[in-house]
Amino acid sequence: MYPPRSKETSRLVARPRPIYLDYQASAPVDPSVADVMCEWIRNRCGNPHSNEHAFGWAARDAVERARASVAAIIEADPEDIVFTSGATEANNLALFGAADRAAHGRDTILVSSIEHSSILAPARALATKGFQLIELPVDAEGFVVMSTFEQALSSRVLLVSIAAVNNEVGTLQDLQAIGARCRSVGALLHTDAAQALSARPLPLAEWPVDFASLSSHKSYGPVGIGALYVAPGRADHLAPQILGGTQQHGLRAGTLPAALCVGFGRACELLVRGGAAERQHVAGLRDRLWQLLKALIPEASLNGPADFAARHPGNLHVAFPHVDARELIQRLQPDLACSTGSACHSGSEEPSHVLLSIGFDEKRARSSLRLSLGRLTTFDEVQRAAHLIASALAEGSELVALSS
Ligand code: PMP
Repeated sequence: MYPPRSKETSRLVARPRPIYLDYQASAPVDPSVADVMCEWIRNRCGNPHSNEHAFGWAARDAVERARASVAAIIEADPEDIVFTSGATEANNLALFGAADRAAHGRDTILVSSIEHSSILAPARALATKGFQLIELPVDAEGFVVMSTFEQALSSRVLLVSIAAVNNEVGTLQDLQAIGARCRSVGALLHTDAAQALSARPLPLAEWPVDFASLSSHKSYGPVGIGALYVAPGRADHLAPQILGGTQQHGLRAGTLPAALCVGFGRACELLVRGGAAERQHVAGLRDRLWQLLKALIPEASLNGPADFAARHPGNLHVAFPHVDARELIQRLQPDLACSTGSACHSGSEEPSHVLLSIGFDEKRARSSLRLSLGRLTTFDEVQRAAHLIASALAEGSELVALSS
């Protein structure tokens, strides 16, 4: 006979599965991605750059098929894709690589003030080496202010870098309009598209975009792989930043990880297959979550674009007045995972630079939470998440009442 359940055991047995709403930090690997990767790890070997034997050829073929799948999702040619270890490396390659090849007189770099730290840090490093850096303002929803952008453009601008999708408030920028302005002064346009593959169509070959950084783990692929898209004819504008091999036409030395490439390729195929229908499904769940939160917590207010068509379909960013969002997340553990902002800044005590840039004061920035949903999120999870947040807030008010 089983021993009677202690109170603690009953609580554990009854506890439903924790809910993951932090897809923008890292999306779960799709099971089909895991399957193709396991096949590679378990049953295959060979360096994709070994061109003397059949194992190497098979690995190379798999990597090249994956490159074609990554290219297909942005409607580009496979030779325009340079695999990297992720979007951080791709961003560094774009900024430092373009700076190293800057034509005489092109000494200005423009970035938006809400870029990810893997753009801001290289851009600020270049500013200490003689480049002029202009951090462009954004409006209250995170859109680049076009009039200020136009004023900043000149024939001195080497590179403009604007994220396709903001990682905190989910704003989708108008890359075509931005790219057209860049072309008019001969500036290069780079976009950090780390969050974009699951968020919006990105026909880059048709758009005036010169470089784009991609990340696999924001797109249901494995962590540790990403890519830089380099538009046709633009490779000459980039100097490699990792030296020591002839791989990938010398633009990025290093042995390619076949299993990671294969996983990233499969993740892109699945996104192409899911297409607009999948984005709409996720957006429907996100919309439902927002409705529930508004009904349960009337003082909650939305951060980022009010027009949901102009934000990441899985992104919700909400301010809960009079609450410290970090404390709220702690209260939600281990039942619900969400975040206060970029995981690349965890540990920092500073409020989010994105929220400050869109005009929030420190108080509102510190009371804001990012909830990000995706392919594996269920309707039931959305309902439970809203109630968990409402009870954690109520629990917090009781604690405050007791201590005051
Ligand atoms: N840019 C943005 C907008 C991101 O959200 C992230 C991930 N937090 C990165 C770059 C870095 O991507 P990776 O983890 O692939 O290096």
